[in-house]
Amino acid sequence: MSEPDTSRRPSRMPVLSELAPGVRRLVAPNPSMMTGPGTNTYLFGSNEVAVLDPGPVIKSHIERIQEIAGAPIRWVLVTHTHPDHSPAAAELARATGAELLGRPAPEGRNQDKTFVPDRSLEDGDRVLVDGVELEVIHTPGHASNHICFRQTELDWIFTGDHVIDGSTVVIDPPDGNMKHYLESLAHLRRFQCAALAPGHGEIIKNPDRVIDWIIAHRLEREAKVIVAVRANPKLTTAELVPHVYADVDKKLYGWAERSLLAHLIKLADDGAASCVDGQWVEIP
Ligand SMILES: [Zn+2]
Repeated sequence: MSEPDTSRRPSRMPVLSELAPGVRRLVAPNPSMMTGPGTNTYLFGSNEVAVLDPGPVIKSHIERIQEIAGAPIRWVLVTHTHPDHSPAAAELARATGAELLGRPAPEGRNQDKTFVPDRSLEDGDRVLVDGVELEVIHTPGHASNHICFRQTELDWIFTGDHVIDGSTVVIDPPDGNMKHYLESLAHLRRFQCAALAPGHGEIIKNPDRVIDWIIAHRLEREAKVIVAVRANPKLTTAELVPHVYADVDKKLYGWAERSLLAHLIKLADDGAASCVDGQWVEIP
């Protein structure tokens, strides 16, 4: 799920693409302002298949996944349990007998509780699919249970909503956590992988530059937040929005407030700001 962006219409993407030998992408028919062209479902393997992020429960998409698989679906993997990524997993596993792999849904709203993994994946775990390893990378931030998968043969990282193509992702507290998000970006950067395959949009072929840009963009916003809190002490989060997001359409202030809160919580964790009775002040 990306931050809504009215200026950028969902781009067209082919529904089914063979990205590399044994790696296919099927775009779910759920395009929107929040999901771009739709959720990317990835299929790994030719003689046995793992499906990553089957998306929301859309009958035609679940059927299409099974039609194109061409071999038994042995695993259904999910990057995280937001409603545009995981709800079809349980149904697909029921239909195919596949093992469900991922991390359980945390408490809170906007979480798919129907996803109950047969095996909870930990950072560094490896799933062997048709002779190729998928390495698990725990990347909390966008969601606390978010994981990425590195296909070790191609050295591509499948990033779910940790990094997406052409937009920034929503960090919605309390499950979304800006400090963890930035740490997870730095962690991902250390892999120096060949490409990123996101949960929305096209393959990213310059991963290091894109990750550096995202980190810089978030820190730039954080700098604006601290300047705004300093200049306007004792405002609530909602009252601070126009001071920090003057560049954002007023219609999106609801989302901007969630992102702003994520920045403020990080600043509080860093000891740079504090909140008393809902009002924010800088700690000099
Ligand atoms: Zn998400």
